[in-house]
Amino acid sequence: PVPVLTIDGPSGAGKGTVSRIVAGRLGWHYLDSGALYRAVGVAASWADLDLADPSALVRCTFDTAIEFRDGSEGLRVLVNGTDATSELRLETTGAVASAIAAIPEVREALKERQRAFRRPPGLVADGRDMGTVIFPDATAKVFLTASAEERARRRHNQLKEKGVSVTFDGLLREILARDARDAQRTVAPLKPAEDAVLIDTTGLGIDEVVERVLALVPK
Ligand code: C5P
Repeated sequence: PVPVLTIDGPSGAGKGTVSRIVAGRLGWHYLDSGALYRAVGVAASWADLDLADPSALVRCTFDTAIEFRDGSEGLRVLVNGTDATSELRLETTGAVASAIAAIPEVREALKERQRAFRRPPGLVADGRDMGTVIFPDATAKVFLTASAEERARRRHNQLKEKGVSVTFDGLLREILARDARDAQRTVAPLKPAEDAVLIDTTGLGIDEVVERVLALVPK
C-alpha cells in the first residue's frame, strides 16, 4: 500500500507548517483536510445557505468542486473554479467550517475525496481525524499538541505579520472555547489515535518538530 503519515491535533499546534515541510522533505503529496471543510464553508457562504439546514449543507458538499493547485505563490485552492485561497484562511471561514464539520453526512461525503489523495510515492495528511477515521491503517501517526498560551502566541505573531491587530487575551479565549467545542462535539471529537505518537510542541522550534516527525517514518 502507498505509505501515509497522519498529523492530527488542535488548531495552532503547528500541523500545517510541519506537515508541509515534512511532505516536501519526503517528496510526498500533502492533504490539508481542513481546507476541504473550509472550501465547503466558502461555497455555502457564496450560496447564502442556512447553517442550520444540514441537508442543504450536505448537498453543497457533494456539489462543490475543490481543486488544489501548486503555483509560484504556493498552494492555491479553487472552489467551483474560483480562487478562494485568501477567503479560505479567514477566521469567519474557520468558524463556518467547524459548524459544517459537525454534520456526520458532510464528514462521510468528504471521506473518499480525502482518501483519493493517497497516491505514490506517499501522503502526509493533516487534520483532526486522519489517523482515527480516514487513514486508520497509516504507516505512522503523529498527534501534535501545544499549550493554549503557546498556540495563542503563535497565532498572535502570524496575524501581526499580516498587519492584523487583535489582543492576545481575545485570541486565547477563542482558542480555549474552540478546544472545548472540539473536544465535546459528539461527531468525530478530537482525540489521538491509540497508536499515535504524541509530540508536545510547546517550546520546540519548527526544525526540531520536523526532525522528530521524520524519525517516525520508516525508510
Ligand atoms: O485545520 P483547519 O483550521 O483548517 O480546519 C477548519 C475546521 O474544520 C476545524 O475547526 C475543524 O472543526 C474542521 N476539521 C475537521 N476535520 C478535519 C479537518 C478540519 O473537523 N480533518
